[in-house]
Amino acid sequence: MRAAGIDLGGTKIELQVFGDDWEVVARKRVPTPQTYDALIAALAGLVTWTDTQAGYQVPLGIGAAGLINPATELALTANLCATGRPLHRDVERAAGREVVFINDCRALALSEAIFGAGKGHHTVMSLILGTGVGGGVAIGGDIHAGPTMTGGEFGHMSAPAHLVEQYGLPIVQCGCGRRGCSETYIAGPGMSRIAETIMGARVSPPDIIAQRATDPLAQRVWEIWCAFTADLLCNLTLAVDPDVIVIGGGLSKIDGVIEALTAATQNAQFGDFAIPAIVLAQGGDASGARGAAYAGFQHQQAQAFDLGTSEHAKGE
Ligand SMILES: [Zn+2]
Repeated sequence: MRAAGIDLGGTKIELQVFGDDWEVVARKRVPTPQTYDALIAALAGLVTWTDTQAGYQVPLGIGAAGLINPATELALTANLCATGRPLHRDVERAAGREVVFINDCRALALSEAIFGAGKGHHTVMSLILGTGVGGGVAIGGDIHAGPTMTGGEFGHMSAPAHLVEQYGLPIVQCGCGRRGCSETYIAGPGMSRIAETIMGARVSPPDIIAQRATDPLAQRVWEIWCAFTADLLCNLTLAVDPDVIVIGGGLSKIDGVIEALTAATQNAQFGDFAIPAIVLAQGGDASGARGAAYAGFQHQQAQAFDLGTSEHAKGE
């Protein structure tokens, strides 16, 4: 077994074990416990189950919706009962071994860079548009991670003031504690918030999409959503200038989303400068576990390298 990945979500925990060619060789799914102690026990149980099946400690990563603050080791998460708790350390203590923790959006970005739509490109940026918005940047096959571990929280970058003013949209408090985050306009609930202003009702994204052809107001909501999302893509291009931008998440399944975002982002870009290729994620719902497993695999490789060089140094 090459590695194992756990996709830790608010309603379910999915373990996937990967063979030498990164094909799934075992899979286990359990509901996400709603108390902290039970959550730790469930995660440690899946880690131990994997090691027992393999007969050794399999490189393992956990991809979770949320952040671990490296300065305090405490978790910050909207949909797990783990905020303010040392989630990573407690899982390691309960399982009696090391595991890698990675944000779920970063896991998906890594998976797309290695196995999916970004394969073969040097700098791969992913933007995941779902009930929340996040992403990640992979450079040369490694997810870029800095000292604060907040890089990739694209949804919490400020929304463009000129578009907020142009369409008379409200500025609301985001779940992260800041006001006016991009996510409050471009996540699924954000699209409904735009509809509230333009259509006079909180219409769901699937209904907005279905009504585009017959209702000019629904079409307008869609165009405004594209403009906000494109502005974020343009800002990210100005910051990173990736070779390719991979779009994932529930809203990426909307018909024509890639063409619409490409046109809107080109429109937002300076003069006649090009924009990176914008493409659809390929991994689907399996990407989270695969990316987490790959992060676990990379961590083990790096440790083996460290060990090799330090022993080599000792020998000299
Ligand atoms: Zn925010």
